[in-house]
Amino acid sequence: MKAKPLGPIPAGFETLDGELAIGGKRASEWVESEGKTPLFVYSRELLNARVEQLRAALPERIGINYAVKANPYEPVVTHMEGLVDGFDIASSGELAITNAVGINPARISFAGPGKRDEELEAAIVAGVTLNCESEGEARRAIAIGVRIGKTPRMALRVNPDFELKGSGMKMGGGAKQFGIDADKVPALAREIIAAGVEWRGLHIFTGSQALSADAIIEAQSNVLQLAAKLADEIDVSLPKLNMGGGFGIPYFPGDEPLDLAAVGAALTKHVANLPEQLTETELCLELGRYLVGEAGIYLTRVVDRKVSHDTTYLVTDGGLHHQLAASGNFGTVVRRNYPVAIANRYDAPADDVVNVVGCLCTPLDRLADKAALPHADVRDIVAVFCAGAYGATASPSAFLGHGPAAEMLV
Ligand SMILES: *Cc1c(COP(=O)(O)O)cnc(C)c1O
Repeated sequence: MKAKPLGPIPAGFETLDGELAIGGKRASEWVESEGKTPLFVYSRELLNARVEQLRAALPERIGINYAVKANPYEPVVTHMEGLVDGFDIASSGELAITNAVGINPARISFAGPGKRDEELEAAIVAGVTLNCESEGEARRAIAIGVRIGKTPRMALRVNPDFELKGSGMKMGGGAKQFGIDADKVPALAREIIAAGVEWRGLHIFTGSQALSADAIIEAQSNVLQLAAKLADEIDVSLPKLNMGGGFGIPYFPGDEPLDLAAVGAALTKHVANLPEQLTETELCLELGRYLVGEAGIYLTRVVDRKVSHDTTYLVTDGGLHHQLAASGNFGTVVRRNYPVAIANRYDAPADDVVNVVGCLCTPLDRLADKAALPHADVRDIVAVFCAGAYGATASPSAFLGHGPAAEMLV
């Protein structure tokens, strides 16, 4: 059987005694200490390294926000608290997490369509900035603020007329459920400022999972121009501009890492030549997968090795119920392989070609197709990389009743 390529293994992983190591220990040691698989392991060291790279590349003026939905595991959010400047949440459930962690609400903004009245109220009570997604939502928030006697902190999320080219998920340009169409923003901004809210500025998110520095540079340039134009029309200065993010990570064969130095250099130029409307404005980026995605692995044990019509299957105790994206069922059109390895035989020669599948009763449950890997059998451990974002909580863990995976931050 001819092998299909695997995605690139992210930098920063090591080999210890022939095994894949993370956080200074062998993968099998983490499995032993947890006492079970499947298991997500996230590395503090890799989280630190990524933020350090960003700080080194970006101008000091640009704050870094963490989009909690990428990985809301409480120890990860706690760790990020000491690393980043702000947090973006998307539900009152995520607000409960940031509250539990003790993050100062002044550092938090709340975006996302369909915020319920109870969620708006919880955010206003906490003092979190609402990134309003529609005129209706903005007016509801103002009414709730009046009813409870607390001034809402409010920004407007803009639906721009452009988008981040080549991004995995398009969230700007044309009709969208996200944000307020750019041409309607000035009137609404003036309306809410007149209503007495604490005006926090604009949020312009243009897309996600972009690997092209040129595309990100172009989108950021467009964001700054649009923000300056809107600030002019609103005729009140912008306290803050959340410029969006969209920095992608390589998942698939042939994907190249984002050229962070190029993005940083372009931003440095922009910051040195800001339109005059933005010279006093606080600027930030909001990143999810770029901060945490490559810092985690998913470990799952081989339960069965079987052959069907000359095809070898490694059947694992994990699957798409924890790793929907790796199975190819989360926003991809053509299924391609994530980076995977046999964790406890990490440096052995790849002398076998196998299909790695999960334990769910559906042919969708595939972790790797025709993967060239070291020979593996029952009890060996498969590692799926790029599991730090959109894994545990972006997968249907109730499907088929196997339950959630364990998680640990090491
Ligand atoms: C999901 C989301 C993010 C994070 O996206 P990544 O691709 O993980 O960086 C950032 N901002 C908003 C508004 C989002 O909805």
